[in-house]
Amino acid sequence: MSLESIQASMAGAARDAGRDPSDVTLIAVSKVQPLERVVAILESGHRIFGENKVQEAAGKWPDLRARYEGIDLHLIGPLQTNKARQAMDLAQSIHSLDRPKLARTLARLAQERGDCPSLFVQVNTGQEPQKAGVLPAEADEFIAECRGMDLPVVGLMCIPPAEDNPAPHFQMLAEMAARNGLSGLSMGMSSDFETAIRHGATHVRVGSAIFGERVAG
Ligand SMILES: *Cc1c(COP(=O)(O)O)cnc(C)c1O
Repeated sequence: MSLESIQASMAGAARDAGRDPSDVTLIAVSKVQPLERVVAILESGHRIFGENKVQEAAGKWPDLRARYEGIDLHLIGPLQTNKARQAMDLAQSIHSLDRPKLARTLARLAQERGDCPSLFVQVNTGQEPQKAGVLPAEADEFIAECRGMDLPVVGLMCIPPAEDNPAPHFQMLAEMAARNGLSGLSMGMSSDFETAIRHGATHVRVGSAIFGERVAG
């Protein structure tokens, strides 16, 4: 699919739900893609990208930033505390705030730097043991804890279990955001971004549908 056809599908889903299409941001997930595919999307004018690994982002985005203005990079993968500083240097948003230790590290670095990327709290809506994210039952308390540290929490993020119908997960995340007064909802990937938009997604993270299948690396 082309970037334009994804944007058209996004707009259609937003209008179906009575939403303004401009309230949904497309994050083009460029992880593991050959550089020429990323450059082609940049050349088409898109500036909002997602990466799931700090190391990989560090290897590509400083150079691309020097060549293209206005890049908005979102870190969407699990973040180790020892990579937090580098993540804050690279990204404008971090979607994977999921535990107190990481919150404390980001808060300390934010104090030191005088700025902090926008943060999404990741919720493990499917309660999968192998998956990152705070458990649903612990989310309200964790969000309050992050706010108590003055962290700029703007929304919630989830990755539903691959085998599940994603709609109930998106619904749960939307309800959780609403009751916590959070407007951002990072949910929806290549296979389910339209469903996510119907449930209120403000940020969809779309990789393979834009770039083609990821080349194994
Ligand atoms: C890779 C990835 C995506 C994009 O997945 P696609 O199925 O290729 O759209 C979205 N979110 C996260 C957290 C990812 O790691």
